Amino acid sequence: MTDPHRPGLTGSPLDRAGHLRENPDARADLFASPKARLLLLDGLDPLLTDDLTLQWGSLADAPHEAPLAFLGFLDNRPRFVALADAPSGYSRSRRLIQALDMMSPAEAGTFAVARSLVDWHNRHRFCAQCGSATEIVRAGWTRRCPSCSAQHFPRTDPVVIMLAEHDGRILLGRQPQFPPDLYSALAGFLELGESIEEAVARELREEAGVIASNVRYVASQPWPFPSSLMIACIADAESDRIVLDTNELEAARWFTRAEVTAAFAGNADASFGIPSPYAIAHTLMRWWLDRV
Ligand SMILES: [Zn+2]
Repeated sequence: MTDPHRPGLTGSPLDRAGHLRENPDARADLFASPKARLLLLDGLDPLLTDDLTLQWGSLADAPHEAPLAFLGFLDNRPRFVALADAPSGYSRSRRLIQALDMMSPAEAGTFAVARSLVDWHNRHRFCAQCGSATEIVRAGWTRRCPSCSAQHFPRTDPVVIMLAEHDGRILLGRQPQFPPDLYSALAGFLELGESIEEAVARELREEAGVIASNVRYVASQPWPFPSSLMIACIADAESDRIVLDTNELEAARWFTRAEVTAAFAGNADASFGIPSPYAIAHTLMRWWLDRV
């Protein structure tokens, strides 16, 4: 059984073997290996086997003329993904959400690497410094500008996601687009020049008017929609007064341990619904129930 405190989308057994990206001979051997396997995707969505694992094919299954990126090794086989055109990685299809609900965290973690990488290439074809078309180097892990020699690397955007706690209750909120009754942890992007602790305090203050301190890190997870790192924290609130920013949230309120327990148990009389297990908000709430 999966550890309930391990965030979704983590624990991939992929050995990235990053040193091989630099070595032209090693790269050529990887691409020519009869053991090489290609991750099969539908756009940016995973294709699953009957066992709910990712589907892999041969390199010949890649779309015509699509370059390949080396993901790393699984089971001693070099693994690749085709850098094919695909719709934006910002949106999540219903089929993707269903797949994430069914995949193991480790399998979803391997998928996360590939999805973010393919999407990054699609959105970064031109040099941010001089505007020239860039070329793929380092087995798909860098783009290089032939005009100004700038190198561009796949980026990760940090997001803080947090519980504020006051007198044994936690603060949760809901955005208008959430499914009915679902409440989750508040979240927001880190801004330039901010520490994690400062971003957590700012988001709680801006979205809910809650003044918080004593921010503690709990866990993190990659969030490949398209390329975030979710950093889960917990903080102490000065009071339970809420001043809602209705541009961000439809509602926010404090939940007791009994309410959160009932929601996790899926009780018919639970006062709210919780996020899917693959989302770190779920892990964070579980952690609060079990450890605090
Ligand atoms: Zn350039």
